[in-house]
Amino acid sequence: MFDALKERLDGIFKNLRSKGKLTEEDVALALREVRRALLEADVHYKVVKDLVERIRERAVGRDVLDSITPSQQVVTIVFEELRDLMGRDVVPLVISPKPPTHYMLVGLQGSGKTTSCVKIARRLLKGHKPLVVACDHQRPAAVEQLRVLAAQAKVAFFGPEPGEKDPVGVAERALRFAADRLHDVILFDTAGRLHVDEPLMEELQAMKALLSPHEILLVVDGMTGQEAVNVASAFNERLGLTGVVLTKLDGDARGGSALAIRSVTGVPIKMAGVGEHLEDMEPFDGGRMVQRILGMGDVQGLMERVHLAAVGGEMEKMAESLKKNRFTMEDLLTQIQQVSKMGPLDKVMEMLPLPDNLKQLRGAEMDPKRLRHVEAIILSMTPAERRNPDIIKGSRRRRIALGSGTSVQMVNQVLKQHAQMKELWKRFGKGGKRGFKMPKLF
Ligand code: GDP
Repeated sequence: MFDALKERLDGIFKNLRSKGKLTEEDVALALREVRRALLEADVHYKVVKDLVERIRERAVGRDVLDSITPSQQVVTIVFEELRDLMGRDVVPLVISPKPPTHYMLVGLQGSGKTTSCVKIARRLLKGHKPLVVACDHQRPAAVEQLRVLAAQAKVAFFGPEPGEKDPVGVAERALRFAADRLHDVILFDTAGRLHVDEPLMEELQAMKALLSPHEILLVVDGMTGQEAVNVASAFNERLGLTGVVLTKLDGDARGGSALAIRSVTGVPIKMAGVGEHLEDMEPFDGGRMVQRILGMGDVQGLMERVHLAAVGGEMEKMAESLKKNRFTMEDLLTQIQQVSKMGPLDKVMEMLPLPDNLKQLRGAEMDPKRLRHVEAIILSMTPAERRNPDIIKGSRRRRIALGSGTSVQMVNQVLKQHAQMKELWKRFGKGGKRGFKMPKLF
C-alpha cells in the first residue's frame, strides 16, 4: 500500500534536497506537487486542502527558509502534519475495568469484519478469555465462516440456533452464555450489507442499546479509497463509533482512506489488518505508517540531533567563512565535530532514509575511527597550517603524522580530501548566500 504515494513524495523531496537553500517559490512548487500526490492517493480533497495550507504556513516561516537544512525541515513538517492527520499515538482498544467488555464490529460486507473479529479475539487470548458471537443472520455462510475461523484461532464461539433470525435475541443469549463461562471480552460480529441502509442501521442501534458496547469498531477495507470516508461518516453519525479497524493494508491500495478517515470523522484508527492470516492484525501506528510512506527512518530523532549539533553557532561561523569562499582545515574540523556530535554514527546512518545497501556503504565511509584520525591530524597542525594547508609539505607532513599517531599516507589523504572539499565549496559558494549549499563531507 501507499507505493505510488511514496514514490511521488520521494521524487518531490529529492528535488527539494538538491536545492539546499529554499525560496518561497521552491516551497510553493513542492507543495503543489505534494497536493497532487495526495489527491492521486485518494485522500479527500478537503483534507488535502487543509493539510497543504498548514504545511505552507509552517514551511515558509523565516526560521525554515533561513535555516541550515531548509529542505530537511520542510520534509519534517510534511511528516509531522501527515502524522497528526493519521493520529500521533497508538490508541489501544478499551478493556473495561469491570468485565465483561463488549465490542461490536460493524461494517460493509467484504470489508474484513468477520476475519478481523477473530483476529482481534486471537490477540486477546493472552490474558483474557474472549468469546466471538455471530450476529450476521442474513448470511448463514457468515455464521459458518466465523465458527470455522474461531476454531482455527482456538477462540470460543457462540452462534444462532438453526433458523434463528433475531440478532438481538442471539446477543442476549450470548451474554448469559458468556457469564456462565466467565468470558471477559465478548466480540459481536454484526450483519454486513453491500451498502449502508436503514434496516441495517436500525438493527445495529438496537444491538447497541442492548450491549452498551465499550467499543463500536467500524471495519473498513483500506482499498476502497474515498468511499471509505463516506461509509465511516455514515456509520459514525448513526452509531457513534469509538474506533476504526482498517484492513487489507498489505494490498496495493492507494491508501488515501487511512489518511482521511481520522480527520474527517474524528474517530481514531485503532487496528490494522495486514494480511489474510489470523495473526496479521496489529495496533495502528500513524507515525510508523507515515515513515513508511515517506521512506524515512526515524526522521524526528534525526532532526533533533541536527538541531542539537547546530547549537553553539559553529555552523553559522562556518557558513560565514564559506561565504568568503574559503574552506580552512578549521572548517573541516568543525564539520567532523558536528557529525560526531550527532551521536554514534551508525545510529545516525540508521535514521537516514537510505536503502539498506547504501546504508552499509555510507556507514563504512563514516567509520568513527577514521573520523577520529582525521580530527587528530587536523589538531596536530599549527594554526597557520590549518588556515593555509598549502604550506604543508614533506617535513610538516611527517611531523603531523607523528603528532597525531597516524601515518604520512593518512595525512596526505586528509589534505587531498580537504582540497576536494574546498573545490566543492568554491563551486557551491558562488552566487552568495542564496545559492549557498553545504556539500556533504563523507
Ligand atoms: P466480511 O464480509 O466483512 O465479514 O469480510 P471477511 O472477513 O469475510 O473478509 C473478506 C475477505 O477479505 C476475505 O477473503 C479475507 O480473507 C480478506 N481479508 C480480511 N482482512 C484482510 C487483510 O487484512 N488483508 C488481506 N490481504 N485480506 C484480508
